[in-house]
Amino acid sequence: MTPRPKNIVVTGANRGIGLELVKQLIFRYNPDNLFATYRDPENSKELLKLAEQNGNLHAVVLDVQNFEKYAEFVSKVEATTQGAGVNLLINNSGFFNKENNSSLSQVDKDDLLRHFAINTLAPIMLTKAFLPLLEKASLQEPSQPLGLGRAVVCQVSTTMGSIGDNTSGGAYGYRISKTALNQASKNMSFDLIPKGVLVIPLHPGWVRTDMGGSNALINTEESVSGILSVLENLNEDTSGHFMRFDGKEALW
Ligand code: NDP
Repeated sequence: MTPRPKNIVVTGANRGIGLELVKQLIFRYNPDNLFATYRDPENSKELLKLAEQNGNLHAVVLDVQNFEKYAEFVSKVEATTQGAGVNLLINNSGFFNKENNSSLSQVDKDDLLRHFAINTLAPIMLTKAFLPLLEKASLQEPSQPLGLGRAVVCQVSTTMGSIGDNTSGGAYGYRISKTALNQASKNMSFDLIPKGVLVIPLHPGWVRTDMGGSNALINTEESVSGILSVLENLNEDTSGHFMRFDGKEALW
């Protein structure tokens, strides 16, 4: 039987891959609660409309660089889920400054730090903040195998963070912040498996979004349906592997 995550958190859910995640997660699992974060109501109209139409979809304001707001977000989720915990956390928010990152002479300290804050520190610290709720969810279903029916963290990464796959250089901030995220995700997979939580870094494909651009190879629908299949098939043996949306393994 396909596992059904009952309580889900997705960051950066107002556009691109995150918005499509919200749509497909609702349709596929009809979760008890889906918490979808956004920053600016002006560019989140579709998400906010969906939240009006679906009582189980909660749109929550969160700039992931506001680390001091994480505890408040977790408390809100805890109060709504009433002890059930969180079965799936998808750290999807991401930042790629295409303007200022192509060669060493252009590298800028503040720009590097911004990439690290959003792409590395935020997914680490938000996973840490949600750990008690992830553990709680996993403990609710002790007879189910580890995976989506228990608790899973998906760190949306990219093969641009792969060292083995780097054949062109450039994009310093984006690449190195995602490489660090990959290492952190591997670490977490060891740390969290005894707590009943699986963790993967995942490459969503080259996707037609604001970030991926119009020449990208796939649309958000294809990317997200692939991501959800990967998450459904995740198990103790594949936790900590660097996965692609099409079910193949990515090069570290
Ligand atoms: P988009 O640029 O379309 O969307 C980025 C999302 O991240 C938006 O929701 C944005 O919110 C959010 N975000 C950015 N900064 C912050 C912040 N400080 N706090 C909270 N949210 C923030 O990108 P994609 O949908 O394409 O990318 C989603 C993920 O997939 C990213 O992690 C990206 O690195 C990864 N990825 C994408 C690929 C692609 O080809 N598209 C390829 C490989 C990986 P806001 O609207 O408020 O700015």
